[in-house]
Amino acid sequence: MPFRNLQRRFCGVLIAFICLGVVVPTFAATAQEPLDLTRVLAAPVSLTAHFEYLEDPGAAWTLTDVMESARAMEFRRPNNPSSAAIGFSYTRSAVWLRLPLANPSNQPLQRVLEINYALLAHIDFYAPDARGVYQLTQTGYARPFANRPLPGRFFLLPVTLPPQSQQVVYLRVETPNSLNIPARMWEPQALQTHQHADYALQALYFGVVLAIAFYNLMLFVVLRDKNYLLYVIFSGSVALALGTFSGLGTEFVWGDIPALTTIGVNVFTAVAAAAMLEFARRILNTAALSKPLDRVLQGLIVVNGISFFALIFWFRTFTPWFIVLSVITPLVLLATGIWSALRGQRSAYFFVAAFAAILLAVVLTHLRNLGLLPTNFLTTDGTQIGSAMEMLLLSFALADRYNGMRRDQLQAQEQTLKAQEELVSTLREAEHVLEAKVEERTAELRILNRKLEALSATDGLTGIANRRHFDTTLAAEWTRAARQGHPLALGLLDVDWFKQYNDHYGHQAGDDCLRKVADTLAATMARTGDLVARYGGEEFVFIAPATSAQEALGMARKMCEALQALALPHALSDVGCVTASVGVASIIPDETSTPQTLIQAADEALYAAKAAGRNRAVLAKG
Ligand code: GH3
Ligand code: MG
Ligand code: MG
Repeated sequence: MPFRNLQRRFCGVLIAFICLGVVVPTFAATAQEPLDLTRVLAAPVSLTAHFEYLEDPGAAWTLTDVMESARAMEFRRPNNPSSAAIGFSYTRSAVWLRLPLANPSNQPLQRVLEINYALLAHIDFYAPDARGVYQLTQTGYARPFANRPLPGRFFLLPVTLPPQSQQVVYLRVETPNSLNIPARMWEPQALQTHQHADYALQALYFGVVLAIAFYNLMLFVVLRDKNYLLYVIFSGSVALALGTFSGLGTEFVWGDIPALTTIGVNVFTAVAAAAMLEFARRILNTAALSKPLDRVLQGLIVVNGISFFALIFWFRTFTPWFIVLSVITPLVLLATGIWSALRGQRSAYFFVAAFAAILLAVVLTHLRNLGLLPTNFLTTDGTQIGSAMEMLLLSFALADRYNGMRRDQLQAQEQTLKAQEELVSTLREAEHVLEAKVEERTAELRILNRKLEALSATDGLTGIANRRHFDTTLAAEWTRAARQGHPLALGLLDVDWFKQYNDHYGHQAGDDCLRKVADTLAATMARTGDLVARYGGEEFVFIAPATSAQEALGMARKMCEALQALALPHALSDVGCVTASVGVASIIPDETSTPQTLIQAADEALYAAKAAGRNRAVLAKG
């Protein structure tokens, strides 16, 4: 990401300050050893150590001015000759560089001076022609790309030295950006080989960034999750900032827009920073992690947003502040990531790894620029590799977050389902309990009903069927007999001389007597379907379905005999014991008869039995 470029420049400024403070160049200019161009072959030669520089604070001097002997004495050796670049940070000065060259060979030599930093607005190159007259070649991003002496994303200046010659060339550089001059001398063929590899690597890097950006844009369109949009804004801004910084934007995409090249890196960095801060807030859920930290991130988003406009309108004034902000922002983001990771947030691991990748790349590049590490693809293109790694890792963080959300959702669904199942089983259990209770109550009620029914059908004194029971049974049996064409027999029994019994033995004894009579009568009823009931007072009745008159008469006689056999003493009876008279009738029901007819007939027979002297059974006249 472009922070690292700013960091690199910021660190460059810091290092320049430290060097100026510690190793103040007090030595006077000594004669420069010219660069032997015959030694510039397969590998490029860094020019930092071969340059002498002069700062022109008014940016007004001409070549003649700086060649004038007093000024010529003021040229200085760079403070850090092993550094890959000679740097002046943000300055309004024009910087003059003096470079003596030598060709000790017998052949004319062609070499290319490369300044591999695209943010230099004006570069004036002075080299003597065959006659020793200085000719000016102009380049820099403020000048048309088409006018560059050699095409390339950086600035390439051809140098030709005749055989056995020496010359001094001059560079004048002026830019509103950080004035940084990483210059190298190339053998033309070696440069071409290097450019092939370099462009392939750049294409690879931008290919990866664009693929990631488009892929996440599609994810945003499909999933409508703002995190993907933020990520696209971030990676898109990084691509634009790097496109500006690398010179590829001017060479291949937007052409000559010097104003954009001036502010592009910083402006797009501000957008990338704001997007990354909001992305981090969401993906690391900082609002839940720490309210003050979350407010810091929100504050940084606002400041970066303001920077975006401030950089457009007041670039030179605001840039130093923005560089400080660009150091703070990634540090806060890294600290936030580490904090979240320590709290066990999964996405934070990817986040920290992403920032670690880019920081490692920045450190490697710095060490290489300071001459502490050898130049290889890791130290020269490390930042872009780190940036690509960072984007991939952040993409993983997004994927992981999406996975996490899906996991949570599934878990929530499972929990809801479980809760529903529990509810259903609880309801079912309650239903079972209720059903069991209802069944229990119903059974109890059934028993009670049966008891009630039995009670309502039973005579209170004697315990045999009562009059009500008799009435319903008679009606039912009558209907059945009518349907089947069977005879229905009925006997009416009246205890003899019972008034006297009561009078003589007392009412209580009368009741006892009635109970015994009832028991005895019940005992003589052998057939199921027969019924004996108390008809009222000391009168009893029996019904015998499908029984002829003669059979019924037999039953009645058996009753009389049983009673007599019981031998309950009755002092006022002729027989001396309790007896009874029975009137018996049996009819096959037809349209002319009713149950009442049967009772009537039996009653008349009873009357006849009484009249005939009691203690007997009489059959109704048929
Ligand atoms: P008969 O031979 O003509 O039938 O003479 P009886 O005395 O039995 O005449 P009646 O049928 O008129 O008298 C019935 C008596 O039965 C009247 C009443 O005092 C007595 N009695 C009726 N019900 C009960 C009862 O539940 N308990 C007692 N102890 N006596 C009753
Ligand atoms: Mg009576
Ligand atoms: Mg009687």
